[in-house]
Amino acid sequence: MTSTGVRPATDPEAYLRQTQDRRMASLFELLRIPSISALSAHAGDSRRAAQAIAADLRGIGMDHVEVAETGAHPVVYADWLHAEGAPTALVYCHYDVQPVDPLELWESPPFEPVVIDGRIVARGAADDKGQLHMHLRAIEALLATRGALPVNLKVLFEGDEESSADHLETWVGANRERLAADVGVVSDTGFFEGNLPAITVSTRGILYAQIDVLGPPTDLHSGAFGGAVENPAIALAHIIVGLKAVDGRILIPGFYDEVLPLTPDEHTAFSDLPFDDDAFRRETGVPALAGEPGYMTVERVAIRPTLDVNGMWAGFEGEGTKTIIPAHAHAKISCRLVPDQTPDATYERLEARVLELTPPGVSASVQMLGGGLPFRSKIDHPAMAAASRAVESAFGIAPLFTREGGSIPVLATLGRELQLPLVLLGFANPDDHAHAPNEGLVLDNYENGIRAIIHFWDELAVTDLAR
Ligand SMILES: [Zn+2]
Repeated sequence: MTSTGVRPATDPEAYLRQTQDRRMASLFELLRIPSISALSAHAGDSRRAAQAIAADLRGIGMDHVEVAETGAHPVVYADWLHAEGAPTALVYCHYDVQPVDPLELWESPPFEPVVIDGRIVARGAADDKGQLHMHLRAIEALLATRGALPVNLKVLFEGDEESSADHLETWVGANRERLAADVGVVSDTGFFEGNLPAITVSTRGILYAQIDVLGPPTDLHSGAFGGAVENPAIALAHIIVGLKAVDGRILIPGFYDEVLPLTPDEHTAFSDLPFDDDAFRRETGVPALAGEPGYMTVERVAIRPTLDVNGMWAGFEGEGTKTIIPAHAHAKISCRLVPDQTPDATYERLEARVLELTPPGVSASVQMLGGGLPFRSKIDHPAMAAASRAVESAFGIAPLFTREGGSIPVLATLGRELQLPLVLLGFANPDDHAHAPNEGLVLDNYENGIRAIIHFWDELAVTDLAR
């Protein structure tokens, strides 16, 4: 619908200009639904969000719209497959959001979206309902003005990204044929520091493990037994020292074996990033940065694997003194992994190293608590160049190719289950406070993001993906 007296728009850009108010109202409506996947009290809201998105998809002319059950929150699927001879793209976003606490730190209620200083402020504005909504509006603008999309499109919108449920993997595995495509487009990442346009080209994986060191069956008197019985807390300290050197190198044999070197192109793209070490240090509040010798900070936090102790506990932690040899000691350990490391192989090597380092007089075990594979896009894939041109034409600056230190497990799922090259076409900005109070999305990023998506489909239509 266009407002009375205005000629119907004949191209997507004119259409977008005419429909901005309606678009904002539609975005706000979606942001008002508290689709918090981790809280069961909001299960009905998640379903309501899925149904609202499905209704939207039907309204703009997508086919085969379905709210599909997964065993957890539903996924929303739809397609439009009438671009004969053109490539097929699968779009992934998620409609669920993080919990909102601490609520008192929000300057406006998280589910009452407002625009403040050019930012759309609401839970989910950046991560990821705002980005999902950009795709809907790009499709709408194309179908409303041209009656067709330049490419074949399938959309898969998940409702469990922010919860620990891993039902998507099963659902994707069971729907491989329906989801088959030439390229996957994931819009759940963002730009570089300073809101510089960027395309994320890798994310790290993770291994999460716990080390348990057992000594005597109960705490012992440190006067009566000290000197003759191994102390589990000290044994654990020795083990941890044996996992990582003071200079930052990880001392687990074989740990680095599968780490792929950067290609020359990747290295150039990486060294060109405008990364400010000192600003980064100030942000952390530490007196000096540390890390693996021979690498820049920007490399250490993105393309090198890590080992960290996330927590340690043993013995007496209360006020005053208690002279004991504790019966047991524990540590939680996480490793961020890079291609082609895997959580399973890393776990086996960690376990072997811990056992090797365990002194006589105690026993140690390592349990794996979780894992996710690292991900790397093919930076020289033709879809990547198409995405780069699309972002540049919408934002006026060629995007940087950046690397994310965190983990996005769905990328490995889509890559592995569907054998798809993936383009991470995300539009949030590092200051968007995703997962935190006052989450927001820069209004210009939202608007230009829609244009970039349209340009991308147009670019992709004339790109030869058979490489
Ligand atoms: Zn997200």
